[in-house]
Amino acid sequence: MTKSNGEDPKAGSRMERIQQGVRKRTLLAKKKVQSITKDDVKSYLLRNAFVLFTVVAVILGVILGFSLRSYKMSYREVKYFSFPGELLMRMLQMLVLPLIVSSLVTGIAALDSKASGKMGVRAVVYYMSTTIIAVLIGIIIVVIIHPGKGTKENMHREGKIVQVTAADAFLDLIRYAPLGILFLIAGKIVEMEDMGVIGGQLAMYTVTVIIGLLIHAVIVLPLLYFLITRKNPWVFIGGLIQALVTALGTSSSSATLPVTFKCLEEINGVDKRVTRFVLPVGATINMDGTALYEALAAIFIAQVNNFDLNFGQIITISITATAASIGAAGIPQAGLVTMVIVLTSVGLPTDDITLIIAVDWFLDRLRTTTNVLGDSIGAGIVEHLSRHELKNKDAEMGNSVIEENEMKKPYQLISQENESEKPLDSETKM
Ligand code: ASP
Repeated sequence: MTKSNGEDPKAGSRMERIQQGVRKRTLLAKKKVQSITKDDVKSYLLRNAFVLFTVVAVILGVILGFSLRSYKMSYREVKYFSFPGELLMRMLQMLVLPLIVSSLVTGIAALDSKASGKMGVRAVVYYMSTTIIAVLIGIIIVVIIHPGKGTKENMHREGKIVQVTAADAFLDLIRYAPLGILFLIAGKIVEMEDMGVIGGQLAMYTVTVIIGLLIHAVIVLPLLYFLITRKNPWVFIGGLIQALVTALGTSSSSATLPVTFKCLEEINGVDKRVTRFVLPVGATINMDGTALYEALAAIFIAQVNNFDLNFGQIITISITATAASIGAAGIPQAGLVTMVIVLTSVGLPTDDITLIIAVDWFLDRLRTTTNVLGDSIGAGIVEHLSRHELKNKDAEMGNSVIEENEMKKPYQLISQENESEKPLDSETKM
């Protein structure tokens, strides 16, 4: 039974205890900043073990891949070797469709139509503006560096088709479990064509794409995040490392989606109503890296063909590259397929896509990482811009994740400090 004499003598002391708890927490936090002990480092490493393992896996994958290249494995042997990586890829892909559908449904259901409409407009404005910025960076960089100087006659072309055997069917049977980014990367490096083909123009083209992507990912997107939210973009990006490394390993923004959700919600504390609404759409249509790459690659192909582009054609390339990036699926090398739209729009030979295939497996990883970063920063920005609507909705429903956690902390602290104290609600039941 609850006490019913109107004045609960414990209510005052309970309030004091909560306040005390908050004060102690603040003091503890201050002390922590002052002295970082061995235990802190240990617990930090433990907390981030998964991220560290993934980064180590990428490094080991690169080392293993390069050391195995001298063994000259056959194409089929390489396929068997990279099988554990393929398992991870299939596993992630398996999650994507149900994840997109269910998160969109729950995301939209958690908001009223006015709030979701506003959030939708903000997301689309963000997607369009960052994509256009990316295309412009691509165009400016490729025109300045001009990697396509000379002719395409000495350049290597690539493309292969391999027969399916019974062994493939057997491997299909056990494709259920994840084994690793390590094999995904090592397999690709072993499979890579002779490095000799990546000379001259192709090497310059690769460097140009890398510079363009870096400008967008390291300068433009963090700056945009800082200007809009006034928060440190590097702290936010630090929380995304797991997703970025997964994008690098899988070359697929859709397959990375489950990890992106985890990083944004669990590490960066982005409101679930935002991530569920913004991320699935972003992973499908917002591809800054792909847009930058498509515009840049099209102009590179024009350069190796000694094809002079006029201003109108450059505008056409910008528009079609934006459309092609929206149309590209979040799967490996999808951008290479939609490149055809960009090339045909200005009358460039689509066959010349074979000139850039040799390095595309690598550049695809980098543009996918940029795509995932763009989607994630977009979620952070949309959350910031929609904070008032989200708060209003919280007041109505009290379902904010952050609020829930904040409410628990003082109570948890009090109960840890005074083990003999009974939980609050059992106190009232006497
Ligand atoms: N692989 C990229 C992605 O999944 C798409 C592309 O090929 O550009 O985001």
